[in-house]
Amino acid sequence: MPLTMDTLVSLSKRRGFVFQSSEIYGGTGSVWDYGPLGVELKQNIKRLWWRDFVQMRPDMVGIDAAILMHPNVWRASGHVEQFTDPMVDCRECQHRFRADHVDARPWLHFCPATKGNKFEIAAGEACPRCGARRTLCPDCGKGELTTARNFNLMFKTFMGPVEDDAAVTYLRPETAQAMFVNFENVLQSMRLKLPFGIAQAGRSFRNEITPGNFIFRTREFEQMEIEYFVNPHETVEGRPADEYWHDRWIADCMAWFRRYGLSEGNLRLREHEKDELAHYAKRTLDIEYRFPIGWSELMGIANRTDYDLKQHAKFSGKTLTYFDEERKEHVVPYVIEPAAGVDRALLAFLAEAYQEEEVRGEKRVVLRFHPELAPVKVAVLPLLKKREEIVKTAHGIRSELARHWRVVYDDTAAIGRLYRRQDEVGTPYCVTVDVQTVGDSEKGEQGDQRVTIRDRDSMQQVRVPMRELVPVFQELLTGGDWAAVAGRFGTAAAAAAG
Ligand code: ATP
Repeated sequence: MPLTMDTLVSLSKRRGFVFQSSEIYGGTGSVWDYGPLGVELKQNIKRLWWRDFVQMRPDMVGIDAAILMHPNVWRASGHVEQFTDPMVDCRECQHRFRADHVDARPWLHFCPATKGNKFEIAAGEACPRCGARRTLCPDCGKGELTTARNFNLMFKTFMGPVEDDAAVTYLRPETAQAMFVNFENVLQSMRLKLPFGIAQAGRSFRNEITPGNFIFRTREFEQMEIEYFVNPHETVEGRPADEYWHDRWIADCMAWFRRYGLSEGNLRLREHEKDELAHYAKRTLDIEYRFPIGWSELMGIANRTDYDLKQHAKFSGKTLTYFDEERKEHVVPYVIEPAAGVDRALLAFLAEAYQEEEVRGEKRVVLRFHPELAPVKVAVLPLLKKREEIVKTAHGIRSELARHWRVVYDDTAAIGRLYRRQDEVGTPYCVTVDVQTVGDSEKGEQGDQRVTIRDRDSMQQVRVPMRELVPVFQELLTGGDWAAVAGRFGTAAAAAAG
């Protein structure tokens, strides 16, 4: 059965990944809250992105800018004038649609060929009975749609206590502009040489006309954006530097998503057609993912040329150039912009990880997250919660491992149930403490000080000395191979049903 969005929404709620915002007041479909496991997953995504694209690269630095910016930023960037979507309303049911999305929806049709019976017809298709195409509202099938008018997606707000026009500003609709506005500050304070990039991850806000599809399109979301500045007069491997770096970033971003688990067959590149390109862009590609709603944009990678720096120079009256020592000239760098959505990345990783399988006649739901993404890395489970020694040892292991990773302790069910719970939230490893570990002091029996590690994916178990847990997990959680660890310690006869 193909995975549906409903399955992910319900798992997310049940297991503490994502909740509807303000749910006790009836909720809103346009914003969502991340729960205890969702926040871990989201932080892991941002941390890995930062580690791989900022921390590890000599040519990258980061910033964390304010959400509220000077209103002229949005005049210079073109957002006040042009950050609009065409909107249409139904005259009958008053529903609103993005004009360019209307034909991409299934539509409701009262077919004259069948005495007005009601049918839902697939997006873009004609009625198979009467041949009619959609002209009316896709939702109610009765109302005419108004002509399209432009609707600005920025949230307006007021800076200061006086609600007059002079104080109007906006919640940022993207994080990118802060990198352009801070270009000179970053360049001078860090003494950078082209090419270099500035990265930022943070909240953005868009008053989307039709938000929906869970966390795919919301009105408040997070972005991870990079502005990579290159010298347009340079060539790399015989190509203009901007074109070379654009292709490099496309390849690097694709590789990043694959590295953390998105499969080749669920990823593709889509080049923007000339008539679809933003006015400032020389070339743009989207990385698309096969979400449960079909192929849709996961991130965009645009060559924005020197448009933004020139606009901000014009509006601010400041010089935003780079001095090219070699050519002894001031240049306005070109910009390559890899712009990803944190929430869409999370949705893609969640959808990809989700699997249902049958184990010993029972359904097992498992999230096969890459270990570095998994919200919880290790669960420590006592086999018998009535044995004080076992419980004490398990708590001790949890607090030792928690110095390094997110680790939980759970004794609220029998071991088989506990394993299933951890599978369902994608915990890669469980550690079980049993009688053999601690022995029986009353009988004068010594424990072997070994515990069982159980692997989520293969459900195999190995028995490992307690003192080796930290190095073993250091290996396993940073790309180490389970088979190698299993080979070293030997897979155990199951300590309990896996
Ligand atoms: P779309 O065409 O889906 O509206 P966009 O092309 O306007 O997206 P960009 O401005 O390129 O999006 O923003 C970069 C990334 O930010 C997108 O690829 C997406 O991952 C994320 N993003 C944009 N809008 C939203 C939103 N409303 N909700 C969640 N994520 C979003």
